[in-house]
Amino acid sequence: MIAKDKAICLRKVDYSESSQVVTFFTRQHGKIGVMAKGSRRAKSTSGGAIEVFSYGQMVFYPNETGKLATLKEFDQQPVFMGLRRNLFVMNCALFAAELMDHFTHENDPHPELFDGFVRFLTDVQTASDNAEALSLLIIFQLTVLGEFGSALVLNRCVNCSSSWNDSVKNIYFCSTANGLICADCEGAFVDKLRLSKPVADCLTQLRNLKNADERLLRGVEKVIIYHLTEILHKRPKMAKYFTASASQ
Ligand SMILES: [Zn+2]
Repeated sequence: MIAKDKAICLRKVDYSESSQVVTFFTRQHGKIGVMAKGSRRAKSTSGGAIEVFSYGQMVFYPNETGKLATLKEFDQQPVFMGLRRNLFVMNCALFAAELMDHFTHENDPHPELFDGFVRFLTDVQTASDNAEALSLLIIFQLTVLGEFGSALVLNRCVNCSSSWNDSVKNIYFCSTANGLICADCEGAFVDKLRLSKPVADCLTQLRNLKNADERLLRGVEKVIIYHLTEILHKRPKMAKYFTASASQ
């Protein structure tokens, strides 16, 4: 049976002179691997070769999980061309795509996350500077964690539930506890990061991300990369572009 869905390309591999194998994230069908025969030909039914972030309405013949679906048509809309204007913005978008690929499963739809991903890409390509792009990435990364049942606890100590106030001196991040830990509780946790005051201020009050500079946001992103590395049991490939200092 033929199916129709909105789709965005997360990954593509050239399969032959003329064809590609494409990993799409679709709104209603979740992630799908698709054989796009002839997509690299000039007169293809996919409007030319499919690239990462190619977006549009797709018509395809689904297949059982683990096997490739077959692409019939892909009506590409050039909505994310802006991502290519700036390397830092592109790296933010590629990091988001890597996480989507990691966390999603074939034929497991997450329509709200699909909409959130499209919104993130729309916003990040018009970010006015690196700081804005990075703050959007951080919010999106937290959204992805939340969507897959790993929402970080940031508004209180995960262990004793005490809320953050001005008398709290040191705050720690603990990956196995899935959130922030106060100084009274930190002794009970082995793996933890002690947060600088500005990084803690951003994580406990996410609205502070908006006014943070790039250097501070890289400090926050470092905590998220640490957590992602722990839960994925490997460092995300795109992490290396975000751990250097802001001047590089
Ligand atoms: Zn505590």
